Amino acid sequence: MKYKSFLIKYAEIGVKGKNRYLFEDALVKQIHHRLKRLEGGFSVTKEAGRIYAEASEEFDFDEVIDALQHVFGIVGICPMVQIEDNGYEDLKEQVVKYIGDAYEDKNFTFKVVARRANKQYPVISDQINRDLGEVILNAYPETRVDVHNPDVILRVEVRHKINIFSQTIPGPGGMPIGTAGRAMLLLSGGIDSPVAGWMVAKRGVTIEATYFHAPPYTSERAKQKVVDLAKKVAKYTGPIKLNVVNFTDIQLYIYDQCPHDELTIIMRRYMMRIAEAIAKESDCIALITGESIGQVASQTMQSLAVTNEVCEMPVMRPLIAFDKQDIVDISYKIDTYETSVLPYEDCCTIFVAKHPVTKPNLKRIKMSETKLEEKINELVKTAIETREIIRCI
Ligand code: ATP
Ligand code: MG
Repeated sequence: MKYKSFLIKYAEIGVKGKNRYLFEDALVKQIHHRLKRLEGGFSVTKEAGRIYAEASEEFDFDEVIDALQHVFGIVGICPMVQIEDNGYEDLKEQVVKYIGDAYEDKNFTFKVVARRANKQYPVISDQINRDLGEVILNAYPETRVDVHNPDVILRVEVRHKINIFSQTIPGPGGMPIGTAGRAMLLLSGGIDSPVAGWMVAKRGVTIEATYFHAPPYTSERAKQKVVDLAKKVAKYTGPIKLNVVNFTDIQLYIYDQCPHDELTIIMRRYMMRIAEAIAKESDCIALITGESIGQVASQTMQSLAVTNEVCEMPVMRPLIAFDKQDIVDISYKIDTYETSVLPYEDCCTIFVAKHPVTKPNLKRIKMSETKLEEKINELVKTAIETREIIRCI
């Protein structure tokens, strides 16, 4: 069966009242953006509660489905045959042809569900259901009607044109990117942060990212791994602007000046400060991290509170109450797992103390940070100014 068009189903954005068109337009834009890079010469249009993608040339079906399954906001993708209204007899013929082409094995139960959006159409929905049921049964005697629990629901939508479809391939759900503002993801090479970014993006948030790189303690390969992860997430979010901040001098300075059991927490505070400064420049209104309560010393409730204290912006931590296995499951689903587990060093692991504080005291941490006063502002300024920006697509 060769389809030329798809009907795109969306759920949540259908209920947004007066703002509905903004959401629909954002979804149309995202779909267009994704399909324009593929063969098919697709046009994407909307018509009263429906979005269609229609090809004008040959295309690779699986490739198109894969692309659409990465567009947040889509709940279902229905390969569809769209016909002109050439009269009722023609509709019957086209439906028989559709079933013939779409199902090799006709041994199934079905029901027809017609919807007459065009009230000028001379036959009412109930009658369409009965008539089309009958022609299908006549054409394919192996089929049977079951109105309660059919294998196949054949939908016939009579609009300006007529849409015939019976399959729904699941989409990723969520809200279209570009409908919820912009946030800065602290992206490391681990399992958690790509998942955290993906989850927030799924709610329509545009993502930018910052990675703290510490050459020569962290290698080019570790950086490349983060770029690769950003690209994997970008398959869902669209292009991600990745800020690579050279963190080495700051880390060494903290290492020299502060108690070693407080290194991680002080480093984390500087990461948050720097990420927030870049976020402000980029019009982001929140930060995102992959933190989860109790995962490591720097993620106890006390540590999170002390880290959080430096931020003015809201910090979104979508994984906060997730077990590791639940995070791993999502990372498999979004295809970041294999990259995340590559064994390249993380900038924090090199500088971590054997026994980091697990219940840091804010006053003491602030005291320790006063030892950095001489040079830290200059180092932070330089780190921000000299950051490398990589566009990850
Ligand atoms: P992940 O799997 O995301 O690396 P993790 O379990 O290793 O997380 P931490 O190393 O404590 O945990 O980091 C907590 C969060 O801080 C990360 O999820 C990420 O958002 C941020 N983070 C840590 N290291 C870096 C880094 N080098 N660059 C940018 N963000 C970082
Ligand atoms: Mg990590």
